[in-house]
Amino acid sequence: MAKPVLLTVDDDREVLRAIERDLRRKYGSDYRVLRAGSGQEALEIVRELKIRNNSIALFLIDQRMPGMSGVEFLAQAITLFPDAKRVLLTAYADTDAAIAAINEAGINHYLLKPWDPPEENLYPALDELLEDWEAAFPPQFEGIRVLGNRWSPASHNIKDFLARNHVPYQWLDIETAVSDSEVRSLVELLDEEELHNLPIIILPNGVRLKQPSLAELAEHAGLRTRATEAFYDLAIVGGGPAGLAAAVYGASEGLRTVMIEREAPGGQAGMSSRIENYLGFPSGLTGADLARRAVVQARRFGVEIISAEATEVRVDGPYRFLKLANGEELSCHALLVATGVQWRKLNAPGVERLTGAGIYYGAAMTEAMSSKDEDVYVVGGANSAGQAAMYFSRYAQRVVMLVRASSLAASMSQYLINQLKATPNIQIEFNTSVVEAHGEDHLEAISIHCAETNEINRVPANSLFIMIGAAPNTEWLANIVERDERGFIYSGPHLTRDGKRPNGWKLDRDPGLLETNVPGIFVVGDVRHGSVKRVASGVGEGSVAISFVHQYLSKVV
Ligand SMILES: Cc1cc2nc3c(=O)[nH]c(=O)nc-3n(C[C@H](O)[C@H](O)[C@H](O)COP(=O)(O)OP(=O)(O)OC[C@H]3O[C@@H](n4cnc5c(N)ncnc54)[C@H](O)[C@@H]3O)c2cc1C
Repeated sequence: MAKPVLLTVDDDREVLRAIERDLRRKYGSDYRVLRAGSGQEALEIVRELKIRNNSIALFLIDQRMPGMSGVEFLAQAITLFPDAKRVLLTAYADTDAAIAAINEAGINHYLLKPWDPPEENLYPALDELLEDWEAAFPPQFEGIRVLGNRWSPASHNIKDFLARNHVPYQWLDIETAVSDSEVRSLVELLDEEELHNLPIIILPNGVRLKQPSLAELAEHAGLRTRATEAFYDLAIVGGGPAGLAAAVYGASEGLRTVMIEREAPGGQAGMSSRIENYLGFPSGLTGADLARRAVVQARRFGVEIISAEATEVRVDGPYRFLKLANGEELSCHALLVATGVQWRKLNAPGVERLTGAGIYYGAAMTEAMSSKDEDVYVVGGANSAGQAAMYFSRYAQRVVMLVRASSLAASMSQYLINQLKATPNIQIEFNTSVVEAHGEDHLEAISIHCAETNEINRVPANSLFIMIGAAPNTEWLANIVERDERGFIYSGPHLTRDGKRPNGWKLDRDPGLLETNVPGIFVVGDVRHGSVKRVASGVGEGSVAISFVHQYLSKVV
């Protein structure tokens, strides 16, 4: 934690040095002592400290300074640090002015110059003030801060990315500047251009990033974005349960393993608010917890995890080359594709325009707190929608599930149906679908069509979470591996048709169980044609695939 600051200001250099020395001697181990030669210079320091979210415990200020008196300085400085203790240094002749300032600028104390010996004339007074300050002051948040607008899609993406990558951050909603003095004082310190380019990220060292891309943010948030080696035994694309399991097994069995993930390890499972059917966790666990545990495990075995998107694959003899969106290229002997699926889009007027501004795909847990005491609408009737409804019911006033079918029985696990029924603030509307989303810069209402009555109703809504199935995103692999008409990747027995091996297959064996039509490129998890879309099956496939990787490597290396 950064030490709180003691700031002393005096235009007399010798006095300034002397007081700085005395402060350091007594308080240097617990506080950072900063000095300034004028009120103006001190205000600059105060503003910078505010932007960095550092705290000031004490101002020790000379009263009589050219340009700006001590009291004038304090009047401005305390608007940014209202809790800091204020001590005025005065000459004997200024005592009356100092006493007047006790009321005017809320001075806690005045000290006469010279203060020698400090043990008698300085430290006792400051000790008392600093003890009071420490007792009352909550520790400042020291990580990344995100200043943005609740309804901005870019702000949502940044919050979601940081949360899912377990990077602690503080969210500051610009709309609360009126009521929240913390947000207001930060807003006052930023320039017009910055305020027009929200969200803005303020790093602990004071650096500000305007509307950064996720790749830029990843670099500044301390995530690894580049490979440390040019070559790996095994490269895994996708860090969902399948990719993570393969990473753990691969690295634990001695393979130099790299895993590339464009959003956050955990994949879809990382977005699940409660996985109740994963073996070994009788009371369930959140997807975020599962992902965090798996990442720790993978790192312990030496897996390199890179935050980047894979965009291209090239095959050259025994080498498979992987190109990343940041321009990097790495090579490997075995490549494992575990890119899962992405949410299917809801095709209705207004939905695309308002996505990220009240409309979200998936459970978007980062938005749960924002929907506190509001009505939340969830579209979908599968387990993911049911889990999301249960999760939001803890925050929202009411959760309305809009389900196209006339029952949940065919699409949702019975335990979840029972939980939904037993939760009083969840309401399920069957035979319904969203046909339009309304709102200027954020969602304000939705139109719902009821198939039974054929009526369309417009209802006010601020939050709509869509979970209507998913599709693989494998276009970037289209020229390399064989896929079915929906983009799922074929493997093993699915590639052998009428007893014939796939086109271009030159080896004297059939493709392995989880191998694609390109030897040495494997596929696991939801993205695989014919897969069972569950956490446990993804984990199982990821683990099993490593034994096929070993078999393959034993022939090429
Ligand atoms: C809300 C929700 C709740 C669920 N609840 C349960 C449950 O309770 N029980 C259960 O068994 N299953 C549940 N599931 C299903 C389960 O989460 C999935 O079956 C499982 O996550 C699939 O794992 P996967 O590793 O194959 O793919 P995914 O989890 O989809 O992970 C794929 C990863 O690959 C990354 N990626 C994609 N393309 C690229 C690229 N080009 N470059 C780099 N990275 C890329 C993605 O960002 C993603 O992180 C749930 C799913 C959801 C969405």
